[in-house]
Amino acid sequence: MVFMILILGGTTEGRRLVATLNDAHVPYTLSLAGRTSAMKPGPNTRVGGFGGVAGLREYLEREQVSKVIDATHPFARQMHSNAAAACEQAGVPLLRLMRPGWRNHPYAGSWRWVNNHQEALQALKGAGRVLLTIGRQEAVEYAAFPGEMIVRIAEATPEWSASIPESWEVIAERGPFDIDAERALISRVDAVVSKESGGRFNESKLEAAHELGVPMIMIARPTLPPAQECGSVAEAAEWALS
Ligand code: NAP
Repeated sequence: MVFMILILGGTTEGRRLVATLNDAHVPYTLSLAGRTSAMKPGPNTRVGGFGGVAGLREYLEREQVSKVIDATHPFARQMHSNAAAACEQAGVPLLRLMRPGWRNHPYAGSWRWVNNHQEALQALKGAGRVLLTIGRQEAVEYAAFPGEMIVRIAEATPEWSASIPESWEVIAERGPFDIDAERALISRVDAVVSKESGGRFNESKLEAAHELGVPMIMIARPTLPPAQECGSVAEAAEWALS
């Protein structure tokens, strides 16, 4: 019988899961959206969208996928719902690997929680200079911000650079970031905007903003369709092997 796991990746967890399954000699395919050059396709990797729910369902059936692990980013809203719908239609078991959020973070009570970028923009009223750390795709939603903007992204493309205001300072750097560097950067701004990505990867940003008393505008995770979930790579690997 064919046994194949499809991992929907594009995250640190996706990469770690691949390493674990490699070590355990479990057959898998890693799927990447193909947004950044850092995600180098390996031997068991496919790149690019499936073509919505119908395309993913067709892929699951054609490739005789036995299980799907959705390890995409907590804010990859479309892929989470496509995976839930396609797996249900194709009768393929789905596990969502979701790193723990920050609702219970020790500093969570001091942050200004908002639900979307419009609310974040409202919360920035009166701020002179802001650090935006929400990724590349949605940064343009802040184009109307009247103050100074420093935007930190993993990687700039010429099209993206042309889409944002010329006055914005762009820092194209990939984390994790050192606490001293975070202190130096955050000391230059009146507020930081962040997504509730969760996990420990961005801890130095949270720590530095807290120490400096710089307001943190935190965009809460979107609500996702129900699915079986786990919070760690080890649990996902165990499920894959079960
Ligand atoms: P999204 O809005 O949920 O996805 C948009 C479309 O991109 C999906 O409908 C799908 O196209 C395609 N896609 C997304 N992830 C894919 C995957 N792993 N394999 C194949 N196709 C994929 O996602 P997004 O926010 O644009 O994020 C794109 C990727 O970047 C995700 O894999 C995510 O894990 C990663 N990422 C996102 C964020 C973030 O803040 N959103 C942060 C870090 C990493 P089709 O409908 O054609 O299948």
